[in-house]
Amino acid sequence: MSLQRTLSIIKPDGVAQGNVGDILKRFEEQEFQIKALKMLHLSPQQASGFYAVHRERSFFQDLVRYMSSGAVVVVVLEAPDAVVRLRELMGATDPRQAAEGTLRKLYATSIEKNVVHGSDSDENARREIQYFFSDSELLD
Ligand code: GDP
Repeated sequence: MSLQRTLSIIKPDGVAQGNVGDILKRFEEQEFQIKALKMLHLSPQQASGFYAVHRERSFFQDLVRYMSSGAVVVVVLEAPDAVVRLRELMGATDPRQAAEGTLRKLYATSIEKNVVHGSDSDENARREIQYFFSDSELLD
């Protein structure tokens, strides 16, 4: 497969727990190239817009509160088959079901506070990257 880009977010629990360095190291060890990176504290409006596809879900308000509760690190990663490979590295949404060695198995504390986001399709990756980065902030 040719090179693909995906968006990851180290969520507020990952930043607060001091997992940023470890998670970025894992990305690099797995041969993802970092193409853009920034630290932000999302407003509730920014978090709602990012997760708009989930607005009908019962946990939406909790998710928005959590995602705007502290700083996050937003990262664009590039690799062959990046979308699927990042989802594998993250592990299942619920850390109790996440495979050994995955980021969520290692660092997540609940189905909500699960440390890391990764785009779930190529189309969503493009949309999510554009949500946070202008063209001039992305490396070629
Ligand atoms: P993901 O693609 O694995 O991140 O999972 P989803 O797209 O289904 O959900 C988005 C995010 O919402 C998850 O990563 C969690 O932070 C949160 N979330 C998912 N399911 C639940 C739930 O049942 N309760 C709560 N409070 N949060 C959830």
